[in-house]
This record gives sequence, C-alpha cells and structure tokens, in this order.
Amino acid sequence: MPELPEVSALAAFLVEHAAGLAVTGVDAVSFPALKTYDPPLTALTGATVRGASRHGKFLSVDFDDAHLVTHFSRGGWLQWREDLPDTPARRGKGPLALRVHLEGGRGWDVTEAGTQKRLAVYLVRDPQEVPGVAKLGPDALDPDLDVRALAGILEGRRKQIKGLLTEQGTIAGIGNAYSDEILHTAKLSPFKLASALTSEEIERLHASMRSVLTDAVERSVGQRAATLKEEKKTGLRVHRRAGEPCPVCGDTIHEVSFAASALQYCPTCQTGGAPLADRRMSKFGVRT
Ligand SMILES: [Zn+2]
Repeated sequence: MPELPEVSALAAFLVEHAAGLAVTGVDAVSFPALKTYDPPLTALTGATVRGASRHGKFLSVDFDDAHLVTHFSRGGWLQWREDLPDTPARRGKGPLALRVHLEGGRGWDVTEAGTQKRLAVYLVRDPQEVPGVAKLGPDALDPDLDVRALAGILEGRRKQIKGLLTEQGTIAGIGNAYSDEILHTAKLSPFKLASALTSEEIERLHASMRSVLTDAVERSVGQRAATLKEEKKTGLRVHRRAGEPCPVCGDTIHEVSFAASALQYCPTCQTGGAPLADRRMSKFGVRT
C-alpha cells in the first residue's frame, strides 16, 4: 500500500498533471469503496482540479468546493491514464473501483487488488470531515515532531514500537513497510515496548524516521505513478526481503508472520542476534 512517500509522490504527480483540468465524469465502479453521499460524486462533473495534498496516508484531490479523499488501504493504488475510453466503466470483478475522467481524455483509476476490500473514497467539503483524517496524529515529517515531542509520545506507552509506529492517531504516515525500514535503520527490535526505549534509542528512532522517509520521498517524487510501486520495492532494505542478506551486516533477514501481515527484521542489527518468536513457526523466507 502507498505510505507517506508514495502518497506524497502521487499528490505531486497530480498537481503537475491534473491541476487546471476539469472533470468530465466520475465512474463509481465499486460502491462499497465510496463512503460518502453528500455531496454526490456527480457534483464533481465540471469542477476543476486545483491541487492535491497528503494527510497521513490519505490522498486528497482538491477542488474549489470539494475534496476527493482516498485511503488506499492494503491493496489500493492509483493509475494515471493518458487515454481513457469515453464510455463509463462498468461494474465488474476487476480491480477498478473508481475512475475520474478529465478533459482531453486523461484521468486516473483507483484500483484495489485482492479480496480484502478496504479501499475508502470520500467526497467531502473539508478533508477533516473524513474520520480517519480528523484522528491523525502529528505527521511523521512534521518539523514540530522533534526528538522531545517524540519522547513525549512514547512515554508510558506500553506497546510494541512496531505497532505504535503504524498507529495513525499517534504518528501519521507510516505503514508496515516503512516501520520495518525505520526500525532496521534505528537498530531496534520491533517488539521492544515504546515505554522502555532509552533517550539514546529515541534519538536514533527519530533520526531513522526522518532519514528513511525523506530518502523515500526524494526517490518517489518525480516518479510516474506507474513506476512508483517498483521504486518503493527497490528502496526497501528489509521489508519483504526475508531470506535475503541484510545490506548492513550480511545476516539473513528474518520474518515474523501474523494473521494478515508479516514483519521483517535483521537479528544481528536489531535483536542482539536472537530470532524473535514466531507463533506460526514459519521458516524465514517463506511467506504463505
Ligand atoms: Zn543486519
């Protein structure tokens, strides 16, 4: 799924390619994806795209009187189209959830892969009307989120740091992939309790959060929407790389599986060489 760097890149891409263009039609192909009914989607027809912005992992396409806000969730993605068919998209079994037609035959598709349908699209007058946006904590790249502010957030939180980093109401923008990367760079165990981090570890965590996300934003912005997914994969050092050597120390990257997700880490860099317990006892490198 797109996290902070990819959503930043998608917003930048839309500012460059869609701003100033008028919407000629919107096809809602998957009705469950659409979470609002007022204003109706038809209200967008004739409206001009003014810009695009990011709120945590939410993408907002901004019009004069409305904002089309998308939460991509796990399987969602945006595809820019230079040559859309004039005919409205039909409902079907494919991944297409929403199609926005712009003048000149351009536009974009919002798609969702997989069977877990959790993509969410909102058309609102103010992005803060979206419950998930209203509840966001400080953005991971907010300059005000300095080491002291981060220490304040972590203080007393008896929750594993991996889970806390991905909690959008605590810090906004980080998901499963970049939390693995940040913890690897910070040399911290994903299972360590937030409240147990020393001030030196919090400094390391803060520096890693900044460097990992800033590097990823720099790599992503300027990429076409089509190449963004590949660029994300290339830049990740441990996420989804179980069984491969750690680029820092050469140890084998391990994995812990959960019901619907998995995390990856390097034992030598992050857990003093000891593998973390994996309840499913799956072998590293094998993702079932
Ligand atoms: Zn390592």
